[in-house]
Amino acid sequence: MTDVPILKNYIDGEWVESSSKNLRDVLNPATGELIAKVPMSTVDETEEAIQAANKAFPRWRRTIPITRARYFFEMKNLMEEKFEELARQVVIENGKTIDEARGEIRRGIENVEVATGIPSLMMGYNAEDVAPEIDEIVLRQPMGVFFCLAPFNFPSMVPLWFLPAAVACGNTYIVKPSPIAPISAVRLTEVIDESGFPPGVINLVHGDVETANTLLDSPITKGVSFVGSTPVGRIVYERAAAHGKRAQVQAGAKNFLLVMPDADLERTASALMTSCYGCAGERCLAGAVILAMEEIHEPLVQLLVEKAKMIRVGNGLEEGVQMGPLITAKSKARTIDFIERGLKEGATLLLDGRDVKVDGHPNGFFVGPTIFDDVKPNMGIAQEEIFGPVMSIIKVKSYEEAIKIIHANPYGNASSIFTSSGKWAREFTYEVQTGNIGINIGIAAPVAHFPFSGMKDSFFGDLHGQGTDAIRFFTEDKVVITRWF
Ligand code: NAD
Repeated sequence: MTDVPILKNYIDGEWVESSSKNLRDVLNPATGELIAKVPMSTVDETEEAIQAANKAFPRWRRTIPITRARYFFEMKNLMEEKFEELARQVVIENGKTIDEARGEIRRGIENVEVATGIPSLMMGYNAEDVAPEIDEIVLRQPMGVFFCLAPFNFPSMVPLWFLPAAVACGNTYIVKPSPIAPISAVRLTEVIDESGFPPGVINLVHGDVETANTLLDSPITKGVSFVGSTPVGRIVYERAAAHGKRAQVQAGAKNFLLVMPDADLERTASALMTSCYGCAGERCLAGAVILAMEEIHEPLVQLLVEKAKMIRVGNGLEEGVQMGPLITAKSKARTIDFIERGLKEGATLLLDGRDVKVDGHPNGFFVGPTIFDDVKPNMGIAQEEIFGPVMSIIKVKSYEEAIKIIHANPYGNASSIFTSSGKWAREFTYEVQTGNIGINIGIAAPVAHFPFSGMKDSFFGDLHGQGTDAIRFFTEDKVVITRWF
């Protein structure tokens, strides 16, 4: 017990102990073991981070973009060197499998790589002769201090969706990790420290609601990138708006995957497995509801059950394990509640993950792959985000019926169609109101140079994370109109 580390904040280039007496336990979800304690930082400590970032801004802003980019080259190299260590840390605090964690670190590195292109990404534009002998240019300028509020499910990648673009643009930054999985952000910040960024440019403050509110209410901070659940996202968006701040709020989801009669069933079923059960369903892009056209419903269901039964559940650190535990005992209980609700609602439970046992890990928060058939669109299991390994199958009679079901759901993060028809694929792309669309792809996750979109209750704001949206979010346009006498 005495060896359990108490995590530190990183403020103004120094690792500092929090004076807070309010410490929370961080557990390894596969073993239930206590691995760290995380402080809920005091308001003063959060203010110190804001002041440090604000103080560092003028100088960082004047550091030329190509020099700023070089820090990210260094960061990328260090991340490559420590790749395996960073991935293992994600597994230990989040529970996903080592391969999934490697994917997470790779996606994070890609965001760092994109940020090294900042000298050209940040360019403005111009026009000669907007009036006789008058020219006009647009400059993109950094604004000051930005921060992110991160979720537990991608504890390393999510801060990297924002931090590299923000800082490369010349802003300074504060990361507030999830208190449930805060260690990966610490490891990342150690890499940042080693990369030599000047003090105050990037800071890390642990905490939860109070810390978030201090950052949101500060007259100094310019904008927030939030990733988390929809109810919290709404609060954050409103609070940011009340203070005149920029906000990009990536929120919860319920994603529908439509399988047409002309789909390649074998490959589709494999894609549906990773979509639904990858990261134990704790993914905002998880395909949670399968809309199966009646012509292929029976053979598809058979394939899905066969494949789901084969998934090896266990400690994500063991190679060959295909699905890890849920993040907390509470998440496990919530998922089991949903399964019981599905039964009460009248769905047919084809595969029940409630009693899964993992050898050697009696205290892990495991739930096995679960499949419901005969699900109706109005059931809770088809409507609400479960964030666990539960697949709901709805039999549909027509393409139009499927689209109606997708559109009746309040979320709009992602959806996919599986088909060999270009006509259906185009139709689906054209009309479906979700921000990320997959065509024969189960997890439509945009790469770093594309925006991570999201619509309806899955996103509040206008400029998304990543891609050119990020550059515009983290800069302000200034127009200069010139005439020389
Ligand atoms: P969460 O909403 O519980 O927490 C997210 C962050 O908000 C944490 O840092 C937390 O400390 C902070 N927070 C909590 N309450 C707050 C409040 N009242 N005011 C301000 N900040 C507050 O989310 P989670 O459980 O950590 O993450 C899972 C959720 O994230 C799921 O709903 C998932 O769909 C969503 N998610 C969305 C995306 C996306 O891109 N759309 C990506 C990943 C995860």
